[in-house]
Amino acid sequence: MSKRKVHRVSINDVVFATDKNNPPVLHISSGDTVIFECKDAFNQGIQSSTDLPTDLDFERVNPATGPVYIEGAEPGDTLEVHIEKIEMAAQGACCIVPGFGFLAPEFPDAWTKIIPIKNGYAEFGKGIRIPIDPFPGTLVVAPPGEGEGTLVPKDHGGNMDTKAIKEGTVLYLPVFVPGALFGVGDVHAVQGDGEICGTAVEVDAEVTIRLLVNKQKKITRPQIETPDFFMTTAYAETTDEAVKIALRDMIDWLEAEKGLTRQEAYALCSCAVDMRISQLVDITPGVRVVLPKVIFIESES
Ligand code: CA
Ligand code: CA
Repeated sequence: MSKRKVHRVSINDVVFATDKNNPPVLHISSGDTVIFECKDAFNQGIQSSTDLPTDLDFERVNPATGPVYIEGAEPGDTLEVHIEKIEMAAQGACCIVPGFGFLAPEFPDAWTKIIPIKNGYAEFGKGIRIPIDPFPGTLVVAPPGEGEGTLVPKDHGGNMDTKAIKEGTVLYLPVFVPGALFGVGDVHAVQGDGEICGTAVEVDAEVTIRLLVNKQKKITRPQIETPDFFMTTAYAETTDEAVKIALRDMIDWLEAEKGLTRQEAYALCSCAVDMRISQLVDITPGVRVVLPKVIFIESES
């Protein structure tokens, strides 16, 4: 087995928008591993309970560490993003940000809670501790046209806030520009589906990711695969529209990969597939359609 190269990208190499013109901070070969040092989504502006989100510079939030240029990645390819390891700092924070969040009009005041992370739990206080389940909320490549802020999730990834993308998961992203220009950030120690107040347990972290160029797989928006599940995902103007897009992608996949008729695929989704909310707060709501691999008898062989 050939030895894989391991690189590191510094916590200071961040972008707040993804753009085909962003200069890469690192060039790698397909199959290399990169340790990304990630600042939390507040760009390290919340360190104590007296730091309020209203004090943040909103032009500089949700940093993505990168971008990394993957040699050989061309428009039309798929970038395989293998999440290998996530190591977090000892303290995270959750904030209510005025004007942001699913019930924003009902929660107009800025609010901060510092959340220690220890022994596998996020210590929320008041006798409440949440088992950690870390994942990066923002995983992004450069879009084909104009640049995009890292706060918005779209077909090129971005602020996906999809808790399924954790250690042991492969995220597939479509490549739109040469080299893909991949970046990652916004790690959460734990988050509920929806990320409803707009932030979760936001934390600095090191994320180890293996990046591979896949020339065979053709996708138009992100897909997710774990040992047990295959997922399509979409971000749209409304949650309803996002569900429809992700569902059509799943039906397409079942036709192409499993040889089902379109009607069989539609009905199988009705019988065996779950709709999960990813997030409801990042301008374009996101959902994922989750297919359990256990239903395929051939997968046992
Ligand atoms: Ca986020
Ligand atoms: Ca976040």
